[in-house]
Amino acid sequence: MSEERSLNFIEEIVEEDLAAGKNGGRVLTRFPPEPNGYLHIGHAKSICLNFGLAKKYNGQTNLRFDDTNPVKEDVEYVDSIKEDVKWLGFEWANELYASDYFDKLYEFAVALISKGLAYVDDSSAEEIAAQKGTPTEPGKGNEYRNRSVEENLQLFADMKDGKYPDGAKVLRAKIDLASPNVLLRDPLMYRIKHAHHHRTGDKWCIYPMYDFAHGQSDAIEEITHSICTLEFVPHRALYDLFIKELEIFPSKQYEFARLNLNYTVMSKRKLLQLVEDGFVDGWDDPRMPTISGLRRRGYTPASIREFCERIGVAKRENMIDVGLLEFCIREDLNKTAWRRMAVLDPVKLIIDNYPEGQTEVLHGENNPEVEGGHGSREIPFGRELWIEREDFMEVPPKKYFRLGIGTMVRLKNAYIVKGESVVKDADGNITEIHCTYIPESKSGNDTSGINVKGTIHWISTEHAKEAEVRMYDRLFQVEDPSNEDGDFKDYINPNSLQILEKAYIEPDLANAVAGKPVQFIRKGYFTLDKNSTADKLVFNRTVTLKDGWVKK
Ligand code: ATP
Ligand code: MG
Repeated sequence: MSEERSLNFIEEIVEEDLAAGKNGGRVLTRFPPEPNGYLHIGHAKSICLNFGLAKKYNGQTNLRFDDTNPVKEDVEYVDSIKEDVKWLGFEWANELYASDYFDKLYEFAVALISKGLAYVDDSSAEEIAAQKGTPTEPGKGNEYRNRSVEENLQLFADMKDGKYPDGAKVLRAKIDLASPNVLLRDPLMYRIKHAHHHRTGDKWCIYPMYDFAHGQSDAIEEITHSICTLEFVPHRALYDLFIKELEIFPSKQYEFARLNLNYTVMSKRKLLQLVEDGFVDGWDDPRMPTISGLRRRGYTPASIREFCERIGVAKRENMIDVGLLEFCIREDLNKTAWRRMAVLDPVKLIIDNYPEGQTEVLHGENNPEVEGGHGSREIPFGRELWIEREDFMEVPPKKYFRLGIGTMVRLKNAYIVKGESVVKDADGNITEIHCTYIPESKSGNDTSGINVKGTIHWISTEHAKEAEVRMYDRLFQVEDPSNEDGDFKDYINPNSLQILEKAYIEPDLANAVAGKPVQFIRKGYFTLDKNSTADKLVFNRTVTLKDGWVKK
């Protein structure tokens, strides 16, 4: 479908630049995550956009870790980010770190001080905030603003040399305290932070602010198109100004609307709270909107790329229905997942007229949705089967096409059976269903002439394997938990995880592997969870077969 669609606005810009011969026909983008959490589906959109553009226009993409904030960053996050980008199917040209540029950025700051464009301010954070003014009132200067270049150079060197405690001084750009763009009212360039950095160790005790690191990092790498989300629109003036004053490579920033998905939260800060407060089983909990969570849930890279393609690249924020993401994985798995039978809520079915001790091997196609069915597998059949409790009713109402006393149903890939009687325990619960089968009705060789409307799945009790099956629902009960009164965590769906401890699966599913989802016929798509052991298989439901969500 990518061939068919019209250009998005960023592609239009790139094509204009290429037509005008800008950057020597070169396209170099970057994906710049801050390693302070795991990537989520919003980042996937940015990844698909940045890497997708480079791919389309014969360019390249750098993976640059925006690691200018030593306190919240960690190598665990760096590793997970690399794994996720690769898993999504993209290859970066260079693995880079903003911290690699700390020396260069320091030189840039010195250059701006020397031009009289930056000064050291001793004010506290509160004083600076108070002097900033409001969107309608200009800000006020202070006595530090008029420091000489020499004094500023000395003080900045002293800041770097660790002569001051955290917060004692900052380096600010000297721009315009009356600018209608509040970000231009002498923004901070550097702050003092005596903190250990995961890459530079204790070398630095001053760290550049985002606005003094990002554009220059782009310029150092000669990024041609620096794509970010809309909240950076007001930062663009600063991005351009530093590049201009430093006379470095003129990278350009373009903004698009971030992805918002309903029934979840997407900020790493909030996702971290869910992890730390134990609401979920880690960053890769299958209910999380993280890439690692989606992977564990059974999402494929192709389905996520397709989702990002379908939502497109907009200039205005909107809310995307998670149903679209589910649609994309269903479409993919319908064509790729093998069909297997699993009984999630088992009750025993005994075929009274099937010889005791006899078994036979039946066959079922791996995927009837594709040409050739992807081959078939063997399914053992016998006198005693597990079927789904909900597939039987003692007194079936009209239009109930499953099994009832006196009514017939087809057992998938096997025979037609007719319900005869039930056995119940003292509480009245059915413990056994007895039926008879029609020997001439075998699938593929049915000479019985009997037509039944329903087909149900089953597992031979003798051959069945046990498994735990985890059924997931949306993590939040409301569409936009971040926009409700109180804490977003108050809106967590208490029923987002349902564990079925004793389901039965086809013996062939003992060979299931994580990351290769299967369809449990009539039940949905499932994939093996990482918690599985040889003794205990655990499956995650990736998605239902149909959209079953009912708005409350
Ligand atoms: P969060 O608020 O979730 O922590 P962030 O923007 O701080 O996200 P970064 O690691 O700084 O996270 O983001 C890396 C890149 O991914 C940035 O270019 C950012 O604009 C982009 N990005 C982040 N969230 C989204 C989103 N929801 N939709 C599209 N792009 C996003
Ligand atoms: Mg960020």
